[in-house]
Amino acid sequence: MRLRPVLKTLAAVAALSTAALAAPVSAQQKFVTIGTGGVTGVYYAAGGAICRLVNKDRAKHGIRCSVESTGGSVFNVNTIKAGELDLGFAQSDVQYNAVKGLSQFKDGGAVADLRAVFAVHPEPFTVVARKEANIGKFEDFKGKRFNVGNPGSGTRASMEELLTAMGWKLSDFSLASELKADEHGPALCDGKIDGFFYGVGHPSANIQDPTTSCGAKLVSLTGPVVDKLVADKPYYAKVSIPAGLYPNNPQATPTYGVLATVVASVKTPADTIYAVTKAVFDNFDEFKKLHPALAHLKPEDMVKNGLSAPLHDGAARYYKEKGWIK
Ligand code: GLU
Repeated sequence: MRLRPVLKTLAAVAALSTAALAAPVSAQQKFVTIGTGGVTGVYYAAGGAICRLVNKDRAKHGIRCSVESTGGSVFNVNTIKAGELDLGFAQSDVQYNAVKGLSQFKDGGAVADLRAVFAVHPEPFTVVARKEANIGKFEDFKGKRFNVGNPGSGTRASMEELLTAMGWKLSDFSLASELKADEHGPALCDGKIDGFFYGVGHPSANIQDPTTSCGAKLVSLTGPVVDKLVADKPYYAKVSIPAGLYPNNPQATPTYGVLATVVASVKTPADTIYAVTKAVFDNFDEFKKLHPALAHLKPEDMVKNGLSAPLHDGAARYYKEKGWIK
């Protein structure tokens, strides 16, 4: 985005120069930036996968795609709203709340310009405990040091919804730290916190690291409070993190979660979103191979599940061509 004024200048220079006819390609190139999350999460990798496929056809559509590491879902939606990001990842609960002006979006109001592009991988809420903390269930973290996620993350937004439903406050922890996702694993293994909460796809390097290097344990999220949340909220579903997916965790871990989605602004040009959508679905087998969390995706789910904002015109155009929507 920051490159645009430079490009305009270049275009002006090119127009004035006698070499103008020879140099229009770079002058016409468009840049698109996707807001993701921490570099150890799945958004960053999935965003990289999308950009890789977009950039493959750069000569055809003239779009150069890049990813930006960000604070996560709520930050991405707010930054898209401000016109400073073209596209971004957002948890389906965050997308829902943005469209309705709820929760984190109550003060700023509904984000009327938000558009859905497609849904991606499931994001089970993942609670990880220090091996020595002797945690059997989430309630055991009362009075302990727990990372609730950085403000601006979808993780933090969903954590707050769970704590409210439980009737807990941040002061129920002896320390409620706000470390970013890239920092919570190292903090856990260094003994600075006893656990963390993270809404993320699996497998994720971010969970692989602490389970490998200090034997961290996955903790299930079940019980009447979770049952009621899943029953009451359209964006939650029960899900299980498979047995043995991570070292030192041979058990399956039942929990609940959301879907990752990709969103954009109504102001992001339809041709740009069309090109991004086409790059992903025309190369779908390759896309699924670019990260293991993407391996089980199905196009027919991705165009409807977890999307509460209206579809972006550019995405809808591609899905209609495919006959996936009417
Ligand atoms: N769901 C997380 C969030 O919105 C980010 C997960 C990831 O980066 O993969 O904060």
